[in-house]
Amino acid sequence: MSSLDKRLGQRFLPYGANYLDWSDMSELRKVIEHQVLFRYQTETESMASRLERTVAERLGAHHALAVHNCTEALRLALISTRPSIGDLVYIPAVTFVAVAGAVLSSGLIPVLVDADDSLSMDPTLVPPDAQRVIVAHMEGTVAPLPAGVPYLVEDCAQSLGARFPDGRQVGTAGYAGTFSFHHNKVLTSGEGGLLVTNDESAWSTMRCYHDHGSARVPGHYPTWNQDAHFGENFVTSEQVAAVQCQQFRHLDELLAGLERMYAIAMGELPDRPDLEVRPRAAGDVKVSLRFRCESRQLRDAAVAALTAAGIANWTLGKYLLPDHPVLTGRRSLYRDGFPWNHAPDAPSALSHDGFARTRDLLDRTLCVPLSPELPEEEQVVAAKAVRQVLEAV
Ligand SMILES: *Cc1c(COP(=O)(O)O)cnc(C)c1O
Repeated sequence: MSSLDKRLGQRFLPYGANYLDWSDMSELRKVIEHQVLFRYQTETESMASRLERTVAERLGAHHALAVHNCTEALRLALISTRPSIGDLVYIPAVTFVAVAGAVLSSGLIPVLVDADDSLSMDPTLVPPDAQRVIVAHMEGTVAPLPAGVPYLVEDCAQSLGARFPDGRQVGTAGYAGTFSFHHNKVLTSGEGGLLVTNDESAWSTMRCYHDHGSARVPGHYPTWNQDAHFGENFVTSEQVAAVQCQQFRHLDELLAGLERMYAIAMGELPDRPDLEVRPRAAGDVKVSLRFRCESRQLRDAAVAALTAAGIANWTLGKYLLPDHPVLTGRRSLYRDGFPWNHAPDAPSALSHDGFARTRDLLDRTLCVPLSPELPEEEQVVAAKAVRQVLEAV
């Protein structure tokens, strides 16, 4: 295998550039030398606080809170809205199952909302009186937002750094935005999550809940106010925050690398009308080229040909929640079926056609990841290789 084949084909996660290198780990070194891995051990600015400050500044959010993963961030966002058990949360029909898990484990009921032509949630299907909606910006694609929703949560697990047409960062438009640093995301610390909000009182509720319901002052044992409510422990660690700070330093470089390879690849598209690339918006994070094939057979043949050539690729059928066992089975570890036993009789899915069109779109979609860290010449070689394989299918 050439070094290019290795870099394109062997890395399990193609769009995580990683940037992990001992020469670049000053934050982690600092934490280790300081000998403190717990963020609230000291009164001075912790690495976790530094991460939150840096991310909030870069995204233009008032507050950020680091947690262990994006699923926790979603749960925290939902619980902080002070819902009642069984309240409905409108979520995309096409997203990772973590979104449904976060809703259910918070005692709430997911309602699946069908996708538009770009496979983002169709905001026109969301009822005008919806209280809680989670929109997911999937695969770097900025999704349209429903208007007038009091608790609109943007799940940005796959879209750190994406921008709305007006220039605002995704995650900052509604009640809260959630991010993931899992291995498969734009930046990674193995596992990791973060939440942003512009709402001061939401932020203090979240901060309190994420640390056992306490009113902790950094550097001290937690204290509880007389009106304290219960919480959980979602407090991050200093060494994880250090890796996240290091990763975050590379965000602009990574976004620029993706833009460059996207431009190169768009100049090397296969010359065939039955295998069209879906152009991305200016503000999208260009994590992949997304192709729409004329038929499922052609899509499957393209997947087989790319895989045989050692070129990474993926499809999106795994995100179709109406067919996911967690949703179809309505099972729960609780004997009484919680929280499904609180589901109202209202429809649990909103679609004009029982998701038929979305199923068909997913069956014909193919994604080829872009590799931000490759030097330009290698990006050209990679784009030509993709073109060659797809033209021969
Ligand atoms: C990965 C992912 C999550 C969950 O993130 P974790 O950090 O793994 O908990 C949530 N939503 C979407 C859209 C994701 O892709």
